[in-house]
Amino acid sequence: MSRVRLHDKEFEPYISERDVAAAIDKVAADLNRDFAGKRPVLIGVLNGAFFFAAELVKRLTIECEVTFVKVASYHGTRSSGKVSDLIGLSERIEGRHVIVLEDIVDTGGTVRHIMDALRDHHPASVRIAALLFKPEAYKQDIRIDHVALEIPNAFVVGSGLDHDGLGRNLPGIYTITAS
Ligand code: 5GP
Repeated sequence: MSRVRLHDKEFEPYISERDVAAAIDKVAADLNRDFAGKRPVLIGVLNGAFFFAAELVKRLTIECEVTFVKVASYHGTRSSGKVSDLIGLSERIEGRHVIVLEDIVDTGGTVRHIMDALRDHHPASVRIAALLFKPEAYKQDIRIDHVALEIPNAFVVGSGLDHDGLGRNLPGIYTITAS
């Protein structure tokens, strides 16, 4: 891994592809244990969670369904703090066990919005699984049940995460340099 430039910003290698994979292995093992026989519905939050969702579900040995929703986009390197409605939730999730898949939980505004929106659909249970979690930035009291990797409060890209559209394809995780 070496430094990459995306638009006007430079990013340096932070977590290797191998370490990301090992962290996802652990989340998958926990879900295989906790949801055996429950046929959960996994809901990936687009765009960023496409990578986590794909990597996670190929490790799941339990029966499960997979779908995606979209919420407001993230502009630049700071959370906008605003989210719109859940778009694309066509599955019936009433009475189902739901696992929300997030690429990264930062302030938790997105998680709060999704939890509020899902409650109206009366699922049997809702858990949250995140590829990355920034505990120092988190402002909600909602538990993030399954965290692959905890990171400090810095802007990162790679493994599905972008900087203004670029960088989602980078394997591993890169963090913004001070420059
Ligand atoms: P929150 O609502 O938790 O503040 O932010 C969640 C969303 O903000 C994520 O789904 C992601 O789109 C974006 N986000 C937060 N932190 C980062 C980051 O470090 N890098 C990137 N690329 N996106 C981030």
